[in-house]
Amino acid sequence: MNVKFFNIALATVVAASAVFADGEAKETAPATGAVRMITEATFPPYEFRQGTEIVGIDVEICKAIAKELGKELKIEDVEFDSVLPSLIAGKAELAAAGITVTEDRKMMVDFSHPYVRTGIVFVYAKDRPFEKGEDAKGKRVGVQNGTTSADFVREQLGQDPEMFDSPASAFAAMKSGKVDVVIADIDPAKNLIKGEPDYDISDFLTVEEYAIAVKKNQPEFLAIVNKVIDELDASGKLDEIKDEWTAKADALQEAEGAKAE
Ligand code: GLN
Repeated sequence: MNVKFFNIALATVVAASAVFADGEAKETAPATGAVRMITEATFPPYEFRQGTEIVGIDVEICKAIAKELGKELKIEDVEFDSVLPSLIAGKAELAAAGITVTEDRKMMVDFSHPYVRTGIVFVYAKDRPFEKGEDAKGKRVGVQNGTTSADFVREQLGQDPEMFDSPASAFAAMKSGKVDVVIADIDPAKNLIKGEPDYDISDFLTVEEYAIAVKKNQPEFLAIVNKVIDELDASGKLDEIKDEWTAKADALQEAEGAKAE
Protein backbone atom coordinates (compact mmCIF):
# COMPACT_ATOMS: atom_id res chain seq x y z
CA MET A 1 0.00 0.00 0.00
CA ASN A 2 1.10 3.54 -0.70
CA VAL A 3 1.97 4.86 2.78
CA LYS A 4 1.75 8.53 1.92
CA PHE A 5 -1.74 8.04 0.55
CA PHE A 6 -2.77 6.21 3.69
CA ASN A 7 -1.63 9.03 5.98
CA ILE A 8 -3.47 11.65 3.99
CA ALA A 9 -6.62 9.57 4.19
CA LEU A 10 -6.36 9.10 7.94
CA ALA A 11 -5.74 12.79 8.44
CA THR A 12 -8.84 13.53 6.41
CA VAL A 13 -11.01 11.18 8.43
CA VAL A 14 -9.70 12.41 11.78
CA ALA A 15 -10.19 16.03 10.76
CA ALA A 16 -13.69 15.27 9.58
CA SER A 17 -14.54 13.58 12.88
CA ALA A 18 -13.27 16.56 14.84
CA VAL A 19 -15.58 18.81 12.89
CA PHE A 20 -18.49 16.45 13.46
CA ALA A 21 -17.73 16.02 17.16
CA ASP A 22 -19.67 19.09 18.21
CA GLY A 23 -22.11 18.86 15.32
CA GLU A 24 -25.24 16.93 14.55
CA ALA A 25 -23.65 13.54 14.29
CA LYS A 26 -22.86 13.37 18.01
CA GLU A 27 -25.15 10.48 18.97
CA THR A 28 -24.32 8.23 16.04
CA ALA A 29 -20.69 9.08 15.41
CA PRO A 30 -17.82 7.21 16.95
CA ALA A 31 -15.32 10.07 16.68
CA THR A 32 -12.43 7.87 15.62
CA GLY A 33 -11.71 4.22 14.93
CA ALA A 34 -14.57 3.57 12.55
CA VAL A 35 -15.70 4.44 9.08
CA ARG A 36 -19.44 4.96 9.02
CA MET A 37 -21.55 3.71 6.11
CA ILE A 38 -25.09 5.02 5.73
CA THR A 39 -27.48 2.81 3.81
CA GLU A 40 -31.05 1.59 3.43
CA ALA A 41 -31.15 -2.13 4.00
CA THR A 42 -34.14 -3.29 1.93
CA PHE A 43 -32.23 -3.60 -1.31
CA PRO A 44 -30.94 -7.15 -1.86
CA PRO A 45 -28.36 -8.17 -2.96
CA TYR A 46 -26.68 -4.79 -2.26
CA GLU A 47 -27.87 -4.39 1.35
CA PHE A 48 -30.32 -6.52 3.27
CA ARG A 49 -30.79 -8.01 6.69
CA GLN A 50 -29.69 -11.51 7.54
CA GLY A 51 -31.19 -11.82 10.99
CA THR A 52 -30.24 -8.52 12.58
CA GLU A 53 -27.02 -8.10 10.60
CA ILE A 54 -26.88 -5.85 7.53
CA VAL A 55 -25.02 -7.63 4.73
CA GLY A 56 -24.59 -7.46 0.96
CA ILE A 57 -22.44 -6.25 -1.93
CA ASP A 58 -22.27 -2.62 -0.76
CA VAL A 59 -21.34 -3.75 2.75
CA GLU A 60 -18.43 -5.81 1.37
CA ILE A 61 -17.16 -2.86 -0.69
CA CYS A 62 -17.36 -0.51 2.30
CA LYS A 63 -15.63 -3.10 4.51
CA ALA A 64 -12.76 -3.15 2.01
CA ILE A 65 -12.58 0.66 2.15
CA ALA A 66 -12.55 0.61 5.97
CA LYS A 67 -9.80 -2.01 5.88
CA GLU A 68 -7.71 0.14 3.56
CA LEU A 69 -8.06 2.96 6.11
CA GLY A 70 -7.18 0.62 8.99
CA LYS A 71 -10.60 1.10 10.58
CA GLU A 72 -13.67 -0.95 11.32
CA LEU A 73 -16.95 -0.39 9.51
CA LYS A 74 -20.09 0.85 11.29
CA ILE A 75 -23.38 0.71 9.40
CA GLU A 76 -26.44 2.87 9.87
CA ASP A 77 -29.79 2.10 8.25
CA VAL A 78 -32.19 4.93 7.30
CA GLU A 79 -34.98 5.45 4.74
CA PHE A 80 -33.63 5.73 1.20
CA ASP A 81 -34.58 9.39 0.81
CA SER A 82 -32.57 10.19 3.98
CA VAL A 83 -29.35 8.50 2.84
CA LEU A 84 -27.76 11.47 1.05
CA PRO A 85 -29.09 14.13 3.50
CA SER A 86 -27.60 12.10 6.38
CA LEU A 87 -24.24 11.90 4.60
CA ILE A 88 -24.30 15.66 4.00
CA ALA A 89 -25.21 16.25 7.67
CA GLY A 90 -22.01 14.43 8.68
CA LYS A 91 -23.57 11.24 10.03
CA ALA A 92 -21.36 9.02 7.88
CA GLU A 93 -18.30 9.10 5.66
CA LEU A 94 -19.70 6.72 3.01
CA ALA A 95 -23.19 6.42 1.54
CA ALA A 96 -23.70 3.11 -0.23
CA ALA A 97 -27.22 1.98 -1.05
CA GLY A 98 -27.30 0.99 -4.71
CA ILE A 99 -27.20 4.74 -5.32
CA THR A 100 -27.55 5.71 -8.97
CA VAL A 101 -25.32 8.53 -10.14
CA THR A 102 -27.57 11.36 -11.34
CA GLU A 103 -26.89 14.98 -12.28
CA ASP A 104 -29.13 16.22 -9.43
CA ARG A 105 -27.30 14.12 -6.85
CA LYS A 106 -23.91 15.21 -8.23
CA MET A 107 -24.78 18.73 -7.13
CA MET A 108 -25.14 17.48 -3.52
CA VAL A 109 -22.36 14.89 -3.14
CA ASP A 110 -19.28 13.50 -4.87
CA PHE A 111 -19.44 10.02 -6.37
CA SER A 112 -16.80 7.30 -6.57
CA HIS A 113 -16.02 5.43 -9.75
CA PRO A 114 -19.11 3.38 -10.62
CA TYR A 115 -19.11 -0.27 -9.56
CA VAL A 116 -22.29 -1.57 -11.27
CA ARG A 117 -23.94 -0.87 -14.59
CA THR A 118 -27.66 -1.46 -14.20
CA GLY A 119 -31.11 0.05 -14.66
CA ILE A 120 -34.76 -0.12 -13.68
CA VAL A 121 -37.40 -2.60 -14.88
CA PHE A 122 -41.09 -3.31 -14.51
CA VAL A 123 -42.10 -6.05 -12.11
CA TYR A 124 -45.48 -7.35 -13.26
CA ALA A 125 -47.97 -10.21 -13.00
CA LYS A 126 -47.46 -12.56 -15.98
CA ASP A 127 -51.14 -12.38 -16.89
CA ARG A 128 -50.76 -8.59 -17.17
CA PRO A 129 -47.39 -7.87 -18.80
CA PHE A 130 -45.74 -4.44 -19.00
CA GLU A 131 -42.91 -4.07 -21.54
CA LYS A 132 -42.45 -0.47 -22.65
CA GLY A 133 -42.61 2.69 -20.50
CA GLU A 134 -45.84 3.83 -22.09
CA ASP A 135 -47.59 0.60 -21.03
CA ALA A 136 -47.74 2.14 -17.55
CA LYS A 137 -49.32 5.45 -18.59
CA GLY A 138 -52.36 6.14 -16.43
CA LYS A 139 -51.70 3.00 -14.35
CA ARG A 140 -50.95 2.89 -10.62
CA VAL A 141 -47.18 2.44 -10.49
CA GLY A 142 -45.55 1.45 -7.19
CA VAL A 143 -41.97 2.58 -6.47
CA GLN A 144 -39.64 3.09 -3.54
CA ASN A 145 -39.55 6.64 -2.17
CA GLY A 146 -36.82 8.93 -3.50
CA THR A 147 -35.51 6.58 -6.17
CA THR A 148 -34.75 6.88 -9.86
CA SER A 149 -37.86 4.71 -10.40
CA ALA A 150 -39.93 7.52 -8.85
CA ASP A 151 -38.16 10.04 -11.14
CA PHE A 152 -38.94 7.85 -14.16
CA VAL A 153 -42.67 7.81 -13.39
CA ARG A 154 -42.77 11.58 -12.96
CA GLU A 155 -40.47 12.53 -15.82
CA GLN A 156 -41.19 9.89 -18.47
CA LEU A 157 -44.84 9.09 -17.73
CA GLY A 158 -45.83 12.56 -16.48
CA GLN A 159 -47.70 11.22 -13.46
CA ASP A 160 -47.23 10.65 -9.73
CA PRO A 161 -46.02 7.24 -8.54
CA GLU A 162 -47.41 5.40 -5.51
CA MET A 163 -44.66 5.59 -2.89
CA PHE A 164 -43.45 2.75 -0.66
CA ASP A 165 -40.61 2.41 1.80
CA SER A 166 -39.04 -0.57 0.02
CA PRO A 167 -39.26 -2.48 -3.27
CA ALA A 168 -40.73 -5.40 -1.27
CA SER A 169 -43.60 -3.33 0.12
CA ALA A 170 -44.39 -2.02 -3.39
CA PHE A 171 -44.43 -5.64 -4.61
CA ALA A 172 -46.73 -6.68 -1.73
CA ALA A 173 -49.08 -3.82 -2.71
CA MET A 174 -49.19 -5.12 -6.29
CA LYS A 175 -50.00 -8.62 -5.06
CA SER A 176 -52.93 -7.27 -3.07
CA GLY A 177 -54.18 -5.19 -6.02
CA LYS A 178 -53.30 -1.75 -4.64
CA VAL A 179 -51.01 -0.94 -7.57
CA ASP A 180 -50.96 -2.27 -11.14
CA VAL A 181 -47.22 -2.59 -11.59
CA VAL A 182 -43.94 -1.93 -9.76
CA ILE A 183 -40.78 -0.29 -11.06
CA ALA A 184 -37.52 -1.13 -9.30
CA ASP A 185 -33.82 -1.66 -9.99
CA ILE A 186 -33.21 -4.95 -11.79
CA ASP A 187 -31.27 -6.79 -9.07
CA PRO A 188 -33.75 -6.27 -6.21
CA ALA A 189 -36.52 -6.89 -8.78
CA LYS A 190 -35.00 -10.26 -9.74
CA ASN A 191 -34.72 -11.06 -6.04
CA LEU A 192 -38.39 -10.19 -5.44
CA ILE A 193 -39.66 -12.65 -8.04
CA LYS A 194 -37.52 -15.57 -6.81
CA GLY A 195 -39.95 -18.38 -6.00
CA GLU A 196 -42.85 -16.30 -7.45
CA PRO A 197 -43.77 -18.10 -10.70
CA ASP A 198 -46.70 -15.76 -11.48
CA TYR A 199 -44.51 -12.65 -11.73
CA ASP A 200 -41.84 -11.48 -14.15
CA ILE A 201 -39.63 -8.51 -15.01
CA SER A 202 -39.31 -6.48 -18.21
CA ASP A 203 -36.23 -5.36 -20.12
CA PHE A 204 -34.39 -2.27 -18.90
CA LEU A 205 -36.29 1.03 -18.90
CA THR A 206 -33.11 3.02 -18.15
CA VAL A 207 -29.35 2.63 -18.07
CA GLU A 208 -27.87 3.59 -14.69
CA GLU A 209 -24.67 3.22 -12.70
CA TYR A 210 -24.18 2.78 -8.96
CA ALA A 211 -21.43 4.55 -7.07
CA ILE A 212 -20.52 5.31 -3.48
CA ALA A 213 -21.27 8.87 -2.38
CA VAL A 214 -19.01 10.94 -0.12
CA LYS A 215 -19.29 14.50 1.13
CA LYS A 216 -18.18 17.05 -1.43
CA ASN A 217 -14.62 18.34 -1.68
CA GLN A 218 -12.64 15.54 -0.04
CA PRO A 219 -10.37 14.59 -2.95
CA GLU A 220 -7.92 12.52 -0.87
CA PHE A 221 -10.64 10.48 0.78
CA LEU A 222 -12.43 9.96 -2.55
CA ALA A 223 -9.13 8.82 -4.09
CA ILE A 224 -8.87 6.04 -1.47
CA VAL A 225 -12.46 4.95 -2.14
CA ASN A 226 -11.76 4.87 -5.86
CA LYS A 227 -8.51 2.97 -5.38
CA VAL A 228 -10.31 0.24 -3.44
CA ILE A 229 -13.12 -0.02 -6.02
CA ASP A 230 -10.63 -0.12 -8.90
CA GLU A 231 -8.61 -2.85 -7.19
CA LEU A 232 -11.67 -4.95 -6.38
CA ASP A 233 -12.72 -4.63 -10.00
CA ALA A 234 -9.33 -5.39 -11.56
CA SER A 235 -8.70 -8.43 -9.36
CA GLY A 236 -12.05 -10.04 -10.15
CA LYS A 237 -12.99 -9.80 -6.46
CA LEU A 238 -15.90 -7.45 -7.21
CA ASP A 239 -17.50 -10.07 -9.47
CA GLU A 240 -16.99 -12.70 -6.78
CA ILE A 241 -18.66 -10.46 -4.19
CA LYS A 242 -21.58 -9.83 -6.56
CA ASP A 243 -22.08 -13.54 -7.27
CA GLU A 244 -21.75 -14.56 -3.65
CA TRP A 245 -24.26 -12.04 -2.26
CA THR A 246 -26.72 -12.46 -5.13
CA ALA A 247 -26.83 -16.19 -4.35
CA LYS A 248 -27.21 -15.55 -0.61
CA ALA A 249 -29.98 -12.96 -1.08
CA ASP A 250 -31.84 -15.27 -3.47
CA ALA A 251 -31.61 -18.21 -1.06
CA LEU A 252 -32.96 -16.01 1.74
CA GLN A 253 -35.84 -14.77 -0.41
CA GLU A 254 -36.77 -18.31 -1.45
CA ALA A 255 -36.71 -19.47 2.17
CA GLU A 256 -38.93 -16.52 3.21
CA GLY A 257 -41.36 -17.30 0.38
CA ALA A 258 -41.52 -20.96 1.41
CA LYS A 259 -42.23 -19.88 5.02
CA ALA A 260 -45.04 -17.57 3.91
CA GLU A 261 -46.85 -20.33 2.00
N1 GLN B 1 -30.73 2.96 -7.73
C1 GLN B 1 -31.93 3.60 -7.28
C2 GLN B 1 -31.67 5.04 -6.92
O1 GLN B 1 -30.56 5.37 -6.67
C3 GLN B 1 -32.59 2.86 -6.12
C4 GLN B 1 -31.71 2.70 -4.93
C5 GLN B 1 -32.39 2.09 -3.72
O2 GLN B 1 -33.61 2.00 -3.62
N2 GLN B 1 -31.63 1.66 -2.77
O3 GLN B 1 -32.56 5.81 -6.86
